[in-house]
Amino acid sequence: MFLSVVVPCFNEEHGMTSLHEALVRVLPDLADTFEVLLVDDGSSDGTLTQMREVSRRDPRFRYIALSRNFGKEAAMLAGLSQARGDVVALIDADLQHPPELLGQMIDLLGKGYDQVVARRTRTGDPALRKAISKLYYRMINKVVDVELEDGVGDFRVLTRRAVQALLSLGEYNRFSKGLFSWIGFDTATIDYENVARQEGTTKWTFRKLLNYGIDGVISFNNKPLRAAVYLGGLVTLVAFCYVAWVIFQALTNGVTSPGYVTIMSGVLGLGGLQLLFLGVIGEYLGRIYYESKQRPHFLVKESSGPEHTPVTVPL
Ligand code: UDP
Ligand code: MG
Repeated sequence: MFLSVVVPCFNEEHGMTSLHEALVRVLPDLADTFEVLLVDDGSSDGTLTQMREVSRRDPRFRYIALSRNFGKEAAMLAGLSQARGDVVALIDADLQHPPELLGQMIDLLGKGYDQVVARRTRTGDPALRKAISKLYYRMINKVVDVELEDGVGDFRVLTRRAVQALLSLGEYNRFSKGLFSWIGFDTATIDYENVARQEGTTKWTFRKLLNYGIDGVISFNNKPLRAAVYLGGLVTLVAFCYVAWVIFQALTNGVTSPGYVTIMSGVLGLGGLQLLFLGVIGEYLGRIYYESKQRPHFLVKESSGPEHTPVTVPL
């Protein structure tokens, strides 16, 4: 069995040595041959220098450097598109995904699964963050067409055919959690305790998380647009009845009060709704705009082997 391990790295210069050590400790026992694909996602620190050094010393470690920071989704895709293994593992560079679990995960893969994911328990997370994710997943699962699960991230191993399936999805806006679920195949889950980051700091800001959350809702269906249609219809109906009633009142009793409050609430309420759903429509339009450009997901500026430098995802 040939195992590829894909590691997206963004500003991880301090973690590179411990990552190498941790991987060479476990990988040789797991597969006949293995390769590690380090993907430098446009780091601004010495990550790339470290990668060159690691791959010079240990040719089982290959690297690809993207031309700028394209985000973790693109970095993973870059790695997947270059991976040659029959089995491909995705792990984080900060050792928050313990490589020791890979053995157990690959064993499960041998039992006929195509994806094995590791689900982290949220112990140690701030209570607020925990509550928000719980709420988010409860809501999102009502809305989207694929099953998403809290704590299940990108730490997983995939068979070759699952990887090919992922690569065949050419969309520009990639929400991996949804894509992993969308491709289907039999999936097994194992649990592990949350581990603290070894080096450096998290690359997720609140803003990035919020955007990620919106991506999750928008990427997998058009229900928000549908909701806009229903709600718009309902509001129009209510408004129509109300206007009819006001005209009827005016005709029978004459105009009694200036009606400032009603007008203001009508204007503000409708204005708010319109803005909200213009935003929803805009989100979809924006996506269509990006998709229609058909841009590559990432560009490679350098890699350890000249033989592997395709620039886009094979579709
Ligand atoms: N990462 C990346 N590109 C980015 C942000 C993050 O390749 O734009 C990588 C990062 O180097 C790490 C993994 O994605 O290997 C997970 O990032 P991080 O540990 O910051 O996320 P968290 O564990 O806090 O969710
Ligand atoms: Mg991390």
